[in-house]
Amino acid sequence: MSRHFDAIIIGTGQAGPSLAARFATAGKAVAIIERHKFGGTCVNTGCIPTKTLIASANAGHAARRGAEFGFVINGDVRVDMKRVKARKDEISGRSNKGVEEWLRGLQNCTVIQGHARFETSHSVVVNDEVLEADKVFINVGGRATVPAFPGIHDVPFFTNSSMVDVDFLPEHLVIVGGSYVGLEFGQMYRRFGSEVTIVEMGPRLIGREDEDVSDAVQKILELEGIRIVLNAKCISLAKRDSCIAVGVECTEGSPEVLGTHILLAVGRTPNTHDLGLDRAGVATDERGYVVVDDQLQTNVPGIWALGDCNGRGAFTHTAYNDYEIVADNLFNADRRRVSDRIQTYALYTDPPLGRCGMTDAEIRKSGRAALAVKHSMSRVGRAVEKGETQGFIKITVDAETKQILGAAILGTGGDEVVQVLLDVMYAKAPYTVVQRAMHIHPTVAEFLPTVLSKLQPFA
Ligand SMILES: Cc1cc2nc3c(=O)[nH]c(=O)nc-3n(C[C@H](O)[C@H](O)[C@H](O)COP(=O)(O)OP(=O)(O)OC[C@H]3O[C@@H](n4cnc5c(N)ncnc54)[C@H](O)[C@@H]3O)c2cc1C
Repeated sequence: MSRHFDAIIIGTGQAGPSLAARFATAGKAVAIIERHKFGGTCVNTGCIPTKTLIASANAGHAARRGAEFGFVINGDVRVDMKRVKARKDEISGRSNKGVEEWLRGLQNCTVIQGHARFETSHSVVVNDEVLEADKVFINVGGRATVPAFPGIHDVPFFTNSSMVDVDFLPEHLVIVGGSYVGLEFGQMYRRFGSEVTIVEMGPRLIGREDEDVSDAVQKILELEGIRIVLNAKCISLAKRDSCIAVGVECTEGSPEVLGTHILLAVGRTPNTHDLGLDRAGVATDERGYVVVDDQLQTNVPGIWALGDCNGRGAFTHTAYNDYEIVADNLFNADRRRVSDRIQTYALYTDPPLGRCGMTDAEIRKSGRAALAVKHSMSRVGRAVEKGETQGFIKITVDAETKQILGAAILGTGGDEVVQVLLDVMYAKAPYTVVQRAMHIHPTVAEFLPTVLSKLQPFA
């Protein structure tokens, strides 16, 4: 016995539900399968819980700075982690419930809970039932990587999934991994009141960014009392009485970092190992990502892969954009492609880092002639008024076309302001459009024309 659908979608992350709704509203029978929590990583263990927790941490930080702004606080500002978690549970839970209710309320959409595995290229088994469809969409996302560090099985550790459920204050949190996830949790827990050490294997934090960005972020974190250990070439873990020791060097007897709790934040692994991809003949790369073309089709006709599992993006907006690309190709004969999109994302430290386009290193490698400018946030009126003067605005443009090549805005509102530049990049318009635009005063964005008037040859 098997059931036949027009489309099967595996996973309810950031692409699957919208695609299911698209099929359902077009009158097509669609089955969507979820093995764990509706909404996937972003809703349950990623963006929403972390940004909600960061909001709590930042509120505490602002309260501690009250005197600077003329407020008197009688006594210490202390965190109540149970209430912080309850707030997070409420906000994240609402989204999780919203996704499930939305899907269950769709006509033509069958929601199935269970683990899906390919049987053939056009059939999938869930809870011992065989489902068949001409089109199958894989939206299985990823999970925290747990490397085979020596001692990993001897000590308890958190990943992002378990860390968002913590309802107590760790005395000393050691975070292994100094990239986006590690830094967000690091500053968050420091602001909650924990001692925090970040151990990074590379020579600097957020190694994909330019050096000046890494250095500035490091200084911001260190100023808050976060200890940062770089070049930790050989990580090992061991129990030491009531603590956990993180070894950072290859030699025996070398210094260790001692903490009460460990968070592993060393990257993501796609959830493709237990999907029966071999039975369907779907190709993956050496890291387990599903290989897709520019329209997100796999090597097997009729099977697509969207979101983190295809290795073409690692963000909610890239997963959602994958949905748009696939839906527009299938339903609107609009040949949208992954290669049309411009890289953009934010790091939600305080201040945040908003990024779009190429880094300086990428521009240098491309060999093109460029103009660049860097402007300190301490000279941006809005930042001064808010007492948030850390960071800078950095923009690079093509010397010939005048189009913006890339930007990094580390500073208050950086995650929003960078999108002024992003839209101009999509329009393929010259930077002079921004330079000549009248912006609202007082904002950070109003400084973009001033900043752009100071472009110099890019070294
Ligand atoms: C701590 C953290 C913070 C983040 N913050 C941000 C942020 O601020 N902004 C941002 O843009 N991105 C952020 N991200 C990244 C973002 O969460 C992901 O890029 C996004 O959720 C990917 O969505 P997806 O649809 O690819 O997969 P997911 O959201 O991971 O969903 C995949 C779903 O598939 C299900 N599934 C897997 N295998 C099967 C199977 N065999 N059968 C049935 N179901 C299956 C899973 O249970 C899951 O629900 C963050 C990530 C982390 C870890």
